[in-house]
Amino acid sequence: MKHIVILGGGYAGLLCALELRKHVSSSDAEITLINKHSYHQLITQLHETAVGARSDRSLRLSLSKLLDGKHVEIVKGTVSAITPDGHAVELQDGRTITYDKLVVALGSETEYFGIAGMKEHAFTLKSVNQARLIRAHIESCFARYLYERDPALLRFVVGGAGFSGIELVGELADALPQFAREAGVTMDQVELYNIEAAPGILPGFDQDLVDAAQHSLTSRGVRFMTGAAIVQVEPGRVTVKTGQVVETHTVIWTGGTGGVRGNQLVVDAGFETEPRGRAKVNAYLQSVSHPDVYIIGDACFVMGEEGRPLPPTAQLAWQMGIASGKNITNELRGVALEPFKPNILGSLASLGRKDAVGKVLKSYKMYGKMAYMAKEASQMRYLAKIGAMFHSN
Ligand code: NAD
Repeated sequence: MKHIVILGGGYAGLLCALELRKHVSSSDAEITLINKHSYHQLITQLHETAVGARSDRSLRLSLSKLLDGKHVEIVKGTVSAITPDGHAVELQDGRTITYDKLVVALGSETEYFGIAGMKEHAFTLKSVNQARLIRAHIESCFARYLYERDPALLRFVVGGAGFSGIELVGELADALPQFAREAGVTMDQVELYNIEAAPGILPGFDQDLVDAAQHSLTSRGVRFMTGAAIVQVEPGRVTVKTGQVVETHTVIWTGGTGGVRGNQLVVDAGFETEPRGRAKVNAYLQSVSHPDVYIIGDACFVMGEEGRPLPPTAQLAWQMGIASGKNITNELRGVALEPFKPNILGSLASLGRKDAVGKVLKSYKMYGKMAYMAKEASQMRYLAKIGAMFHSN
């Protein structure tokens, strides 16, 4: 019997396992899913849990429940090496797992672009645990302020104004008044900065949507610094290229967390990669250097039809999970593989609890509460797809 091993239980890996089990019975192939945690994380909602707007538990979905009855063996472990020539995967705890077919869905790593002190002194938001750290830190800043009266404690900085940065800033803008109320400080003492290297926020997005986002966030007190690449982060301050300094004890880095850099394990394994470590894959999502291995989600690099790389988004990760599951099925059945056809359904950025901007159905623009509800609906759609609508953890 064939053994299919999937590395990573994120959007791409989970969807691959679910798709495979729609077509491949447990007597045809064994499926093992290896993941660092026992749960799947809804990382597209992390900005909400980082400010306490949503519980950690609601973003952690038990893999054993999601895969209940699907005959998928779940191995909790951290992959430390992949040896494609030996058809084996090593785990940090010393276990070695061999495979006939491998799917690498290990996501991306944070890129710091060599910015001095960023790795050491900034927070990142790529997991529920990191969101929890941020929330606890914000609370501690308010608590410390009551004793230390250091204004930098109430000054919060988000680095990067792409979708991740803007969504986090929106949540913070809505949540900071509550943190302030609880600490008994007034909002005129609290400052929220979003620092972006490009000349404007949401680079590359339609100008009218950018203007709407900027207006919405500015009206809730967000201070934007654009054309201002962060060059250094030190305890208590952040410095931008123009020489400006913002004194703060809180920098949250979103400038290199969104799939800019691939996964080092993929590089170390010898898979062919582009310069930032994302695996080069063929039309079927197989490694160009090792076609018996599928590399999907943020760990791979796919050129879109318009000659631009596909964005490292959750919706494409799900689609790649499904496509690779179908193609492995095709391989097992000895039928022709199908090229991956991305379907970008739209992109919506939330701007806090009640507002959002974005585009759906290729070019239909949405604003305000409607856009926010459309974003919520897309999340519901995903939960329905993975069978998690009524899960309790
Ligand atoms: P991104 O790469 O799109 O944005 C990072 C931003 O950081 C850029 O605007 C960049 O100019 C800025 N930056 C880089 N270096 C900087 C520096 N030194 N100082 C200040 N700013 C700096 O990353 P992302 O926002 O995580 O998005 C990644 C992908 O995921 C995108 O395709 C995005 O559309 C997608 N995404 C989508 C959603 C959604 O659909 N709601 C949410 C999050 C991300």
